[in-house]
Amino acid sequence: VKERGRNGYAFFEAKMEEKSLERILLENELRKAIQLEQFHIDYQPKIDLSKNKLIGMEALVRWNHPELGKISPNKFIPLAEETGLILPLGEWVLRRGCEQNKEWQDKGYTPLKISINLSARQISYPDIVRKIEEILIETKLEPEWLELEVTESIFVNIENAITVLQQLRDLGVHISIDDFGTGYSSFSYIKHLPVDTLKIDASFIRDIHQNKESQAIVQAVLTLSQTLGINVIAEGVENQRQLDVLREDGCSQGQGFLFSKPLSSQDFEEYLKESVRA
Ligand code: C2E
Ligand code: CA
Ligand code: CA
Ligand code: CA
Repeated sequence: VKERGRNGYAFFEAKMEEKSLERILLENELRKAIQLEQFHIDYQPKIDLSKNKLIGMEALVRWNHPELGKISPNKFIPLAEETGLILPLGEWVLRRGCEQNKEWQDKGYTPLKISINLSARQISYPDIVRKIEEILIETKLEPEWLELEVTESIFVNIENAITVLQQLRDLGVHISIDDFGTGYSSFSYIKHLPVDTLKIDASFIRDIHQNKESQAIVQAVLTLSQTLGINVIAEGVENQRQLDVLREDGCSQGQGFLFSKPLSSQDFEEYLKESVRA
């Protein structure tokens, strides 16, 4: 028994070491990748549900490591947040996303809003507003064509979050609350927040067609947003039955695999051409 206990402990210790080693390795690789700009962005269409029309796209960062292959954002974004590397990485995504959107506008496609994810760490960075203003000037993208997606986690520091969001809105940039319904914001104070859109978390959409509680939550968000004059979008729409329920309940915008998966910039441009013809 003693022997096994010791082995068990050694095993546990080795596991721990392995984990932190992997972390250190990945952190180093991430640092290098930022310097080498080893990233690219995929763009996922956002759809107006009543007109079946393309209204915008979400920028989703991708990392294709030369040896390790594709690494999921669910893996490297949390690491980038912990290490602070999200600041240079996030800045790259902002600049590249705005630049790309402007490029498409200059080519004559119907102007669309690009949505870019901003982590809590970026919101609490003192120079974030100036940085974003600088990027908009540099890329010549009009602020109305940029939307920032932030999660409710930023409201842990509510005073700062409200100040920053207000300053960003004063620039003319739109604000969306991502993963809405999973975090801190309560219905009672959402009216005090400077936001334009609530993005209903995919977890409520997943079973909306077969779970009364999920549907009730979605309906409550829709009612709230109508009262406050806020826009709503459903994320993670994967099948027709979910879409039918959303339409019935009066949700006006959607995003998800049913419409399109995230596309490379080349494929998104093809999609743009198609949607102009449609
Ligand atoms: P998110 O912002 O909630 O993005 C939505 C995620 O759901 C994306 O995963 C997208 O590819 C995926 N998705 C879209 N439609 C569907 C669908 O119908 N079904 C399912 N099951 N999934 C769908 P992705 O690209 O792996 O990104 C994961 C998370 O990583 C994002 O979640 C976001 O929190 C973060 N992330 C991605 N890019 C950035 C970025 O540039 N900056 C920051 N700060 N975070 C980012
Ligand atoms: Ca998002
Ligand atoms: Ca989301
Ligand atoms: Ca999410």
